[in-house]
Amino acid sequence: LDVNFAPYINFKGEARGVVVVLHDITEIRRLEKMRSDFVANVSHELRTPITSIKGFTETLLEGAMQDEETCRNFLQIISDESERLYRMIRDILDLSKIEQKRLPLQMNQVHLQELITSAVAIMNDQAQRKQLSIALPNQTPEILLMTDRDCLQQIVLNLLSNAVAYTPEGGAITIHTEQNAQRVLIQVSDTGIGIPEKDIPRIFERFYRVDKARSRDSGGTGLGLAIVKHLVENLHGQISVQSREGQGTTFTVTLPFL
Ligand code: ADP
Repeated sequence: LDVNFAPYINFKGEARGVVVVLHDITEIRRLEKMRSDFVANVSHELRTPITSIKGFTETLLEGAMQDEETCRNFLQIISDESERLYRMIRDILDLSKIEQKRLPLQMNQVHLQELITSAVAIMNDQAQRKQLSIALPNQTPEILLMTDRDCLQQIVLNLLSNAVAYTPEGGAITIHTEQNAQRVLIQVSDTGIGIPEKDIPRIFERFYRVDKARSRDSGGTGLGLAIVKHLVENLHGQISVQSREGQGTTFTVTLPFL
C-alpha cells in the first residue's frame, strides 16, 4: 500500500484536517519484483557457462595444453558451454519477444501431421544417437487447422527435444494427434526419467530445472517450457503434463480448432 498525506487547508488558509490518499500498489510491486528477479536470474544463469569457459581456458593456458587428451576434453567442454550460452541468449530474446507480444500471429492453414513430421526430421539425428524410436500413430484422418505455423512448430520441437533429452537410450517417444469439432490435441509422450510430483507445478517457470546438474548435462537452458507455455497461450490453447518418475512423461497441448 502506498500512503500519501497532505494537510487539508480551507480557502482562508486554515488547517482543517488531513487528506489521506491510499494507492494499492501490490500489483505494481509484484511486477517490479518479477522483473528484477528475472534480471537477477538471467545474470546468474549466463554467468555459469561463462565461468566454466573462463576456467577451462585459463587451465589450458597455464599448461594443460601439453596433454593432447586433456586439451581435447577441455575444448569440448568450452565448445558445449559456448553453444549453451548461445541457446540461452536466443531463448531469452525469444521469450521476451513472445511476452511483449511482439510476434504477431500469422494464421494459415496448417497440415498438422506434416508439421510434426518435419519436427521429427529435425530431431532425428539426436534421437538416433540415443537409439530412441519416435512413433506417429493415427496419421489419418489428416488434420488441417488454422494456426501460426512457426509458433506451433516451435511448441512441438521444444516438447520433442525435451522428450529426446530426458529419455535414456533405447526409449520410445510417441506423438499422438486427435481432433474433434472444437479442439485439436497434440500429445508428446516418452518413456524417460519422468518428473517428480513436487516439481511438476514449477517446470513451466523460467530457468526452473528439476535437477540442475542433470539438466545441464542435457544442454538445457531451463527456458524451453516457459517458451512453450507462452506460445500455447498466444494460440489460445492449453498445456498440461502427466508424469511418473522413472516411467515417463506426457505433455498434452490442446488448441482451439478453427
Ligand atoms: P531445459 O532446458 O532444462 O530442458 P525446460 O524448460 O525445457 O528446460 O524444462 C524444464 C525442466 O523440466 C527440465 O530441466 C527437466 O527437468 C524437466 N522436463 C521437461 N521435459 C521433460 C521430460 N519430457 N521428461 C522429464 N523431465 C522433463
